[in-house]
Amino acid sequence: MQRLSKPLETNRTEAWVGRLRHISVSVTFLGTGGSVPNKFRNLPSVLVRRGPELFLFDCGEGTQRQFLQARAGINRKMRIFISHLHGDHVFGLPGMLHSLSFMGRSRELEIIGPKGIIELVTSVNRVVKLYNRFPIAIREVKAGQRIEDAEYNVRVASAQHGVPCLAYALEEKPRAGRFDAGNARKLKVPEGPLWKDLQSGKSVRIGQRWVLSKLVLGPPRRGVKITYAVDTRPCASVVRLASESDLLIHDSCFAESAATKAREYGHSTAQEAAAVARGSKSRRLALFHISAMYEDASPLLAEARKVFHQSILPRDMETVSVVA
Ligand SMILES: [Zn+2]
Ligand SMILES: [Zn+2]
Repeated sequence: MQRLSKPLETNRTEAWVGRLRHISVSVTFLGTGGSVPNKFRNLPSVLVRRGPELFLFDCGEGTQRQFLQARAGINRKMRIFISHLHGDHVFGLPGMLHSLSFMGRSRELEIIGPKGIIELVTSVNRVVKLYNRFPIAIREVKAGQRIEDAEYNVRVASAQHGVPCLAYALEEKPRAGRFDAGNARKLKVPEGPLWKDLQSGKSVRIGQRWVLSKLVLGPPRRGVKITYAVDTRPCASVVRLASESDLLIHDSCFAESAATKAREYGHSTAQEAAAVARGSKSRRLALFHISAMYEDASPLLAEARKVFHQSILPRDMETVSVVA
């Protein structure tokens, strides 16, 4: 872990911790192209909003403008995950850091990526002097590692791309079961803070008796899972990582007619991405990192749907909500 400056505030307790059942998750595709942009698609970046918290996967050139347009907020708890150190995935980082600082971010920002990410950010900062008024923590991770948080973790796996490249899965811990208000009334628990405690899994005491949370809660429900895997050939480690994702965002650079090119450059065709979605039993697939050679990428969607019907082809700035 490397810090560019001392943290001003760390691990601030969020008021929403413990209310996992109300947190909504959405994905905004800031840039859906790859390698070079075209008129329709910016370079790769995906913004995940989970309640008040932000996750940014990759930061292609121009991401800062898309990010501002998405109105995600500049001072939220935020982590940036970088898949690999090809220019189309990282050239947006210096601009993003500079602008966030310029616009008044004060909260620490964490950047997570493969070996080399520390050198990249610190050397840009040494030469250009980023206008950074907020602390930046940079962390290099490897396949097999897991970034833990109270309510979710992010697992890291290897992608297959010719250079070291990481895929990430954001996985919520199980959500509390459904609250049975009728039962709570029957057990004479007064509405208010005690209900909140029961909803978050705590047992409560009323006078001389205890009411156990399991009496008013259904079985725990699985949380949301989103997997981000670009740039990559279809591979077993990504299939394993993506197992039962609610949304798999996968490299779909080419149509089948350019399958040789996909193999040669360490990318996937839309149909190969669909096979990964099917193999991993994911619920939905977003075709992503579309080559600039396709002005109209609808043939890629048609090819993917032959293998995996729940495929989508997001446009830049399109938002989808993700539920478990
Ligand atoms: Zn790329
Ligand atoms: Zn690449």
